Amino acid sequence: MSIFPTLTDKTYVVMGIANKRSIAWAIAKTLDEAGAKLVLTYAAERFKSGLESLAGELKQEAILLECDVTNDEAIEMTFRSIHEEAGEIQGIAHSIAFADKEALRGEFSEMTRGQFAQALDISAYSLTAVVKAAKPYFASDASVITLTYLGGERVVPNYNLMGVAKAALDSSVKYLANEYGPHGVRVNAISAGPIRTLSAKGVGDFNSILSELEQKAPLRRNVSADEVASTGLFLLSGMGSGVTGEVIHVDSGYHIL
Ligand code: NDP
Repeated sequence: MSIFPTLTDKTYVVMGIANKRSIAWAIAKTLDEAGAKLVLTYAAERFKSGLESLAGELKQEAILLECDVTNDEAIEMTFRSIHEEAGEIQGIAHSIAFADKEALRGEFSEMTRGQFAQALDISAYSLTAVVKAAKPYFASDASVITLTYLGGERVVPNYNLMGVAKAALDSSVKYLANEYGPHGVRVNAISAGPIRTLSAKGVGDFNSILSELEQKAPLRRNVSADEVASTGLFLLSGMGSGVTGEVIHVDSGYHIL
């Protein structure tokens, strides 16, 4: 008997594929492998063609929709369209974050009010906005995941403003899990170890974060986006049916140090 879950005919929304290095892309490939029907969202029209060519690599044909998570109307419209085109929503992978890279280096308190508001809006509030918009369309045992980082639990050099955003995101996961649990919907976060992606490039001296983990983490190596995606599959499928409000660390064990 295979323990690999079968997600045939189940609709999953994956938000946050910028390119093939994106953690969201690894999640999309894993869900596709399991037979899921995918809806991939992108932030703006200029990202559409790149995503179209990536989506061409998937086994199943995916639905592509624009969704800028700073715009509530756009989010609501996106989820209405998803429901119309693909029926009930079995799960969502929210893999979205943004902060002005000037606020991801140097002194923490040098950030501005505007940088703070923007980072918290896109990186933390957007999860709640998305879950709220999807509420009428969730399957009775739906599952939502988001991506977080250790820098929200403790100080990581240069992570600065994004650390505060991740702390807000981690807390949102717990409040959402508590509110949506009675409806059968689970909400969890994966705290990924550092992975070289477009967003990660914005964090000052990211290479030191990678090499520190490689030298000190129990497994003495960095993790891959595919390893994060396997945990995503566990949480998004029935395999994780008893887990909600959790932050699972996929970081070679670095967080225990
Ligand atoms: P990517 O840059 O590949 O993904 C970030 C995504 O966020 C992009 O697709 C970007 O879209 C999207 N995004 C930003 N602003 C908006 C917006 N207004 N509306 C919609 N989408 C938006 O990087 P990662 O894969 O690394 O990041 C995914 C998640 O994983 C983030 O939450 C990140 O903090 C988290 N994470 C990453 C780690 C790492 O080391 N890489 C470690 C731990 C967590 P676009 O580029 O099209 O604007």
